[in-house]
Amino acid sequence: MNLEVPYHLENFIGGNLIGPLSGNFIDNVNPATGQVYGQIPDSHKKDVDAAVIAAKKIFPVWSTTPVEERFKTLNRIAELIDENLEELALAETNDNGKPLWLSKKVDIPRASANFRFFATGIMHFATESHNMEDKAVNYTLRQPLGIVGCISPWNLPLYLFTWKIAPALAAGNCVIAKPSEVTPVTAFLLSKIFKEAGLPAGVLNIIHGTGPGAGEAIVSHPDVKAISFTGSTRAGERIASISAPKFKKLSLELGGKNPAIIFADCDWEKMMTETIRSSFSNQGEICLCGSRVLVEESVYEKFKADFIERTKKLKVGDPLEPESKQGAIVSKLHFEKILRCIDTAKLEGGKILCGGHIVKPEGRCAGGYFIEPTVIEGLGPNCQTNQEEIFGPVVTLQSFKTEEEALQLANATQYGLAATVWTQDISKANRVAAKVESGIIWINCWLLRDLRTPFGGMKNSGVGREGGWEALRFFTEAKNVCIQL
Ligand code: NAD
Repeated sequence: MNLEVPYHLENFIGGNLIGPLSGNFIDNVNPATGQVYGQIPDSHKKDVDAAVIAAKKIFPVWSTTPVEERFKTLNRIAELIDENLEELALAETNDNGKPLWLSKKVDIPRASANFRFFATGIMHFATESHNMEDKAVNYTLRQPLGIVGCISPWNLPLYLFTWKIAPALAAGNCVIAKPSEVTPVTAFLLSKIFKEAGLPAGVLNIIHGTGPGAGEAIVSHPDVKAISFTGSTRAGERIASISAPKFKKLSLELGGKNPAIIFADCDWEKMMTETIRSSFSNQGEICLCGSRVLVEESVYEKFKADFIERTKKLKVGDPLEPESKQGAIVSKLHFEKILRCIDTAKLEGGKILCGGHIVKPEGRCAGGYFIEPTVIEGLGPNCQTNQEEIFGPVVTLQSFKTEEEALQLANATQYGLAATVWTQDISKANRVAAKVESGIIWINCWLLRDLRTPFGGMKNSGVGREGGWEALRFFTEAKNVCIQL
């Protein structure tokens, strides 16, 4: 599966790797070096049209392929991802800037886990029946939707891409998928895996390109029946406005501004270790990272001192080095955005407790986009820094006196994706969990994911739930069949 550098990627349409019909390409930059190291297709409507034609042709075959066969193919894809872990992880690190050890340990294994999970899931997927005593029996017939669109972001490139594709394929749909134009290479490698695994040509098509170009062409195509999208709230709004008048099924996983709520009675060591992780893992570029750390007033100063000391120890540097805890920010554009957010925090009166600067590693990463993990205090809940998603290694600290105040602060944003609660008082933990406006609440832990559970945000963090049966249901049309007895 070796790719030659510089990469020259192609779309995967009808089982073939082909260049964009326009002949235009976009540069792909390695954020750790700042160097262009490949090119990706700048695809548009015509490429999407070709993919839809290929998908339409094979849909009658794939949708009626016995689930045992779909199970086998998806499982084979999972095996091939595992076999190619080293190459996929390196490609992801070069595209995204995340530490290689993280990609190997988390992202790529989770991508194969997604296929394994939905391969077995479809074998157990059942529908309901409702008995009307001696009058009638109803049963629910769940059928694949047809052709569906899956659009994913750059932060967990292969993991989130496969999180959408796997249930869509398992449920018998054909897919037009678009990875982020910022991190395209793992999806390209996956197209080779799909071929090797024997997935019939046209069942899965991968189109590379920008959101406005390739993405909107997928969303607005009349034959694409559903869109599963993960990305920013801004793009989610745009996608919803295009899809709603066409009555497409929509699942939107969007931005967050997640609170970490820390009560004085927590298990201190565990809380500190996990709060460092939830703040700065993957350079803070995980939608589930906590970016607003809310600390009970009685332990605020102790927390601040401990947190800053540990944050300063996080090594920022070459993502290929095993000791780098933080790699590069994904792109120059995002790097500049984060720096602007830090400037805004200062203008709003925030005090930078640590970090806030660019990091310039020596050697091959001298031209890369690195930022110190940054901790800020002294800002109220309504300022821009505490309202808008930064999506980088930047957290704010705020203190609270009571449980009620903690909840007010936690809920004081437009977002509702994830929250953590740290306390040894089980009743308090459950009271808070019930009142935090958030799709997922972790009590005394962070990022423990059971793929069987529904997953998704509230408020401006999204609509629709992914994960477990919810994802398989999303990718099917439910019909009720009523039989009079
Ligand atoms: P983004 O919205 O810029 O792009 C995401 C994907 O959508 C890309 O493939 C992009 O090309 C495409 N896109 C952009 N505009 C589009 C349009 N008008 N039509 C169709 N497609 C379009 O997001 P990003 O910068 O890649 O990712 C970061 C964002 O993703 C953050 O806001 C983060 O919180 C969010 N995110 C959310 C979750 C979740 O589960 N809720 C998970 C990961 C990331």
